[in-house]
Amino acid sequence: MVDLFYDSCGSTNHAFFFTAAGLCKDAATYSSRIDAKMEKTDSPTMKKGRYILGAGVTGLAAGVSSGLPILEAVDQPGGICSSYYMRIGDSARKTSPPNNGQAYRFELGGGHWIFGASPAMLKFIQKFSPVKTYRRRSAVYFPDKKIYVPYPLQDHLSCLDHKIRKAALSELAHASPLGRTMKEWLRASFGPTLYNLFFAPFHTAYTAGLYDRIAPQDSYKSPANRVQVQRGARGQAAKAGYNVTFVYPQKGLDALTQRMAAACKIHYGHRVEKIDLSRKKIVCQNGATFFYEKLISTLPLNQVISLCGLKTKSLPDPYTSVLVLNIGGERGKDCPRDHWIYVPKSKSGFHRVGIYSNVDVSFLPKAHRNNHAAASFYVERAFSGGMKPAAGQIKKYADLVLQELQDWGYIRKCHVLDPTWIEVAYTWTWPDSQWRTEAMRLLESHQIYPVGRYARWVFQGIADSMCDGLAGADVF
Ligand SMILES: Cc1cc2nc3c(=O)[nH]c(=O)nc-3n(C[C@H](O)[C@H](O)[C@H](O)COP(=O)(O)OP(=O)(O)OC[C@H]3O[C@@H](n4cnc5c(N)ncnc54)[C@H](O)[C@@H]3O)c2cc1C
Repeated sequence: MVDLFYDSCGSTNHAFFFTAAGLCKDAATYSSRIDAKMEKTDSPTMKKGRYILGAGVTGLAAGVSSGLPILEAVDQPGGICSSYYMRIGDSARKTSPPNNGQAYRFELGGGHWIFGASPAMLKFIQKFSPVKTYRRRSAVYFPDKKIYVPYPLQDHLSCLDHKIRKAALSELAHASPLGRTMKEWLRASFGPTLYNLFFAPFHTAYTAGLYDRIAPQDSYKSPANRVQVQRGARGQAAKAGYNVTFVYPQKGLDALTQRMAAACKIHYGHRVEKIDLSRKKIVCQNGATFFYEKLISTLPLNQVISLCGLKTKSLPDPYTSVLVLNIGGERGKDCPRDHWIYVPKSKSGFHRVGIYSNVDVSFLPKAHRNNHAAASFYVERAFSGGMKPAAGQIKKYADLVLQELQDWGYIRKCHVLDPTWIEVAYTWTWPDSQWRTEAMRLLESHQIYPVGRYARWVFQGIADSMCDGLAGADVF
């Protein structure tokens, strides 16, 4: 049963996921159950001794559908997808917007846009919060040449100079997407010209230098379709990629996660510090203890293995951490209209800058929503797993980033700048690694079931994570 569950969850295709597994009903079924659950947080179906670890979007979906109690380390729901608010000139983070609306809304992990939601999943989400749909605007920026090329780069060769276009076209015609490492795969898929121009420098930064040792991953983010490439070389590319449209909750991601949390029973401030497998006992940092029969874990796989004191034979797969700088300020005259920009090389070391306020002006303080005078940004930089810079280094880096964005004409005066750190942000695998399977099997043998993006060590977004949460609770 559990085998089937893992296999089916490996798919990003929801229709397949729900029907082939035969385990999870349509997300719409859950939607109808939720109405009743919202009325009553202490569901009568709550099973004693079964717990969910973590109240990010995966844990919340599992909590909504099962009614099981959730142990959550911090004082608010949402995990990486938590929004927070900052007033101009005030360095304090607020969990809710001020009554007068005069605050920037930021997110812990940078802008989180919901893509790839099936109609059923969308219905589930809309039970909690209405959403707006957006059509993606994103680009690759080459600061030294001041050139913007729409994403995906390979579909917009007409924006590059003649020599590069010609070489890239001929190489792409003979490309074959094979390779043991991400580096080999990128070079083989896009040819040496585009590889040297963009893919190598971008992926060096994005994977914090791991790309020549890890297996190829999330290939859907770099589509290589020959017809599209040819059309793009003539300036006629259709929009492509995994997130051509996306949705975002009308009142912010916090409105969605808080409404979901209201339908769950959550023990906040309960950071799990140890899981005693022989006594089936959870010990929290605040001294609380719980005996369990079974657990759904949404915590990163490597961390749960360590909380349980388990060891795997295989070498653990690597991860990268991300430092996100959330910035709000006066909009610069050259600030683009894109929602986010991929940067192959920046002086300060970031690889992506997103512009929250280009997605929706509701991210800005109320007074700035109609005059285009302000803008808000999230700037991402990757680090090798756990290599968190010291506070002084973060401050120095933040100054450099601000200067660089000012030089590019994105921002003038800065109103607020706030760094956030995501310890396990991107999960990777070594070529031919068996670690993930071994680690999950080991946990399962102790009735701990990993569910969600970090617990199963898979690349997936919010919608798929919620889908996992619903499915996980269903088979539990
Ligand atoms: C930089 C970045 C950008 C992204 N952008 C997007 C995007 O635009 N769109 C999209 O769809 N997806 C995006 N994603 C992916 C998305 O963030 C994940 O799919 C989703 O957040 C996974 O949710 P989760 O609940 O599984 O994990 P988490 O959000 O990590 O939740 C885990 C929860 O467990 C809690 N916890 C941790 N340790 C303990 C402990 N010891 N005891 C108790 N509780 C604990 C945490 O506090 C947290 O609440 C992005 C990811 C990153 C890193």
